[in-house]
Amino acid sequence: MSVKVRFAPSPTGRLHVGNVRTALVNWLFAKGQGGQFVLRIDDTDLARSTAEFETGIETDLKWLGLEWDERHNQSKRFASYEAAAAKLKAAGRLYACYETAEELDRRRKVQLSRGLPPIYDRAALKLTDEEKRALEAEGRRPHWRFRLDGRRVTWNDLVRGAAEVDTASMSDPVLIREDGLFLYTLPSVVDDIDMGITHVIRGEDHVTNTGAQIELFEALGAKAPGFAHMSLLVGEDGQALSKRLGSLSIAQMREDGYEPLAVVSHLGRIGTSDNLEASDSLEALASGFDFGKLGRAPARYDTADLDRLNAAVLHAMTYEAARPRLTAMDADLGETFWQTVRPNLNRFSDVAELARIVRGPVTPKIEDAAFAAKAAELLPQTLDETSWGAWTATVKEATGAKGKGLFMPLRQALTGDDHGPELAALAPLIGRERILKRLAGETA
Ligand code: GLU
Repeated sequence: MSVKVRFAPSPTGRLHVGNVRTALVNWLFAKGQGGQFVLRIDDTDLARSTAEFETGIETDLKWLGLEWDERHNQSKRFASYEAAAAKLKAAGRLYACYETAEELDRRRKVQLSRGLPPIYDRAALKLTDEEKRALEAEGRRPHWRFRLDGRRVTWNDLVRGAAEVDTASMSDPVLIREDGLFLYTLPSVVDDIDMGITHVIRGEDHVTNTGAQIELFEALGAKAPGFAHMSLLVGEDGQALSKRLGSLSIAQMREDGYEPLAVVSHLGRIGTSDNLEASDSLEALASGFDFGKLGRAPARYDTADLDRLNAAVLHAMTYEAARPRLTAMDADLGETFWQTVRPNLNRFSDVAELARIVRGPVTPKIEDAAFAAKAAELLPQTLDETSWGAWTATVKEATGAKGKGLFMPLRQALTGDDHGPELAALAPLIGRERILKRLAGETA
C-alpha cells in the first residue's frame, strides 16, 4: 500500500509552528515511505477564508521545502459533499434539527444542573413530518446532525497506541449548518475517501473527532484510514503554546532570518527520542523519521533550541550553498572568507558585518599607538595562514606583550571590535595594505 497523507490547513491565518509541525510530520512520514503529500485547503468556510492566507500558506510551505504532490480546495468540491450528505440522509444517519442556539444552550444548562452530561438529546429525531413543516413555515431552517452509533470506536493510533472514543458520550455532530455551510467534519472524511488518503496525521485536539469520523467513513461505505494524533506543543514554561502561536508564525521566522533547515530540524525532532540536532537536509530527516520515536508527552518548543540549531546549520553550510546568497548581499569574498566566518554566524545576515571587517571601512580601536606602530613595522611582506603565528611571535618578542595583552590590541586595531572570527585566517583576507592603515589608526 502506497502511503498518501494530507495537510489540511484552513486559510484563516498564517501558518505557525503548531500547524507546521503537523504539515512537517505528514511530509516526513510520506517521503520516508516513498509516498505522497497532499495539500488540501480547508476553505469550506468561505466567509473566513481568504486568498491571501491561502497564498501565504503556500509561500510558507515552499520556503520550508515542503512541496506537495497534489493540491485541492474544499470550496471546489461541494458537489461531492452534497452527494455524501444525500447518501447519509437516505440511510437515516443525517437528520434535520431545528433548535436555535439559545434553545440548545438552555437544555444544556438544565442537563448540567441535574448532573447529566450535556449531550444533545436527539429530540429532533422524534419530530413528525408535520411538525417539521410547521417549523419551516415559521421560517426555521434545519441544521443537520450525524446520528452516531453510540459505541466504542477503537483504532490503533500510530502515536498513542490502542485508542478509543466512546461515541455514546458525544453529541451527534452537526455536519451542515442551517445556512447550508458544511462544517469541517464531513468534507474532511469525503475528501480522505475520494483522495485515497491512507493516514490522517494531526494534533491530539482531534482525537474526539476521530471517533465520529471513523463512524462517518463506515457510514459512507469506506474503510477508515490509519490515524496518528500528535501531542501538542508547549513552551519553555510547560504552558500550552496556543496563545503565543500568532507570534510564532513561519512568516515571522523567515523575517527574523531563521534558516528553513533549522526550523524543520527543530520541529521534526522535538517530542521525539532523537537528539535535537541540525539535520543535513529535509530528505535525511525524512529517512530517519519513525512514528515509534514520537512520544505522547507534549513537545517542548524552546526558541533557544531553534537559535542553536540555526547556528549549527550555518556552521555546516557549504560555500556552494552560501554563494548565491552571499552574492545577493554583495558579500561574496570567496570560499576562504566563508570558511573563516561561518563559525561566527548566528544568522546568515551576520555575514554582512564580517564582510565589512574584511573589506572595510573599519575604524580601528587603538589604545597604544607605539605598540601598533611596532606591530606594523614587523608585519610580514606576504600574508598567508601561517604568517599570523610568525608575526605575533615577533611582536611579542619586540614588545614584551603576551596573551590577551598581545592579541586584544591587534584585534581591536584590525577589526575595531573586541570579538570576532579567527584573526589568523582573517588577516590574509584583510590584506597587508588595509592592516597597515588600520594599525596607523586610519579608517580603512
Ligand atoms: N483544518 C483542520 C485543522 O486545521 C484539519 C484537521 C485535519 O487534519 O483533519 O484543524
